[in-house]
Amino acid sequence: MNFTRPLAKLIEQFQKLPSVGPKSAQRMAFQILKMPESDVRKFAESLIEAKRDIKYCNICFNMSSQNPCEICRDNKRDKSTICVISETKDLIAIEKTNEYRGYYHVLQGMISPLDGIGPEELTLKELVSRLVDEEVQEVIVALNPSVEGDATSLYLSRILKPFNIKVTRIAFGMPVGSDLEYVDELTLARALEGRREI
Ligand SMILES: [Zn+2]
Repeated sequence: MNFTRPLAKLIEQFQKLPSVGPKSAQRMAFQILKMPESDVRKFAESLIEAKRDIKYCNICFNMSSQNPCEICRDNKRDKSTICVISETKDLIAIEKTNEYRGYYHVLQGMISPLDGIGPEELTLKELVSRLVDEEVQEVIVALNPSVEGDATSLYLSRILKPFNIKVTRIAFGMPVGSDLEYVDELTLARALEGRREI
């Protein structure tokens, strides 16, 4: 016997989320049905609102309800450094260390030939134009130690060479394949501090 159509549809939607398999999707769907209608409404509205109100910052491509984002608007930050990360969640991880006071640039992904993601898919052009206009002295590459992270770092070091800017990569004392997002704050702070020129 199959689930009644509206329930099957709900399960299908949850399964679109990362790391949610059929069993978890079912649990989530049943949980929603147990909630009071007002809570379900709030849940649904926050999905729509987030999608409507959160945009990408025109300067750094951080996700924000403001454009430019809160970080790009803050002129007390250190204009001499830009930290390059793959996603907004990595920016949050670095902010939590309280060790970094410069600006950011979110690439919105990493180079991955297997997934058909080339340099054109990332916000590299926009990064380069920031280096021309701004007084940047160092670009800190904070990408995961993975095949994609290495390929992207290599590409970055190549395209940034003509700018006479120091390009460094954070030093992970972690095995290949680990994720910046799951590193504790102290380890990440040390990785930032121990960055090396590439
Ligand atoms: Zn920004």
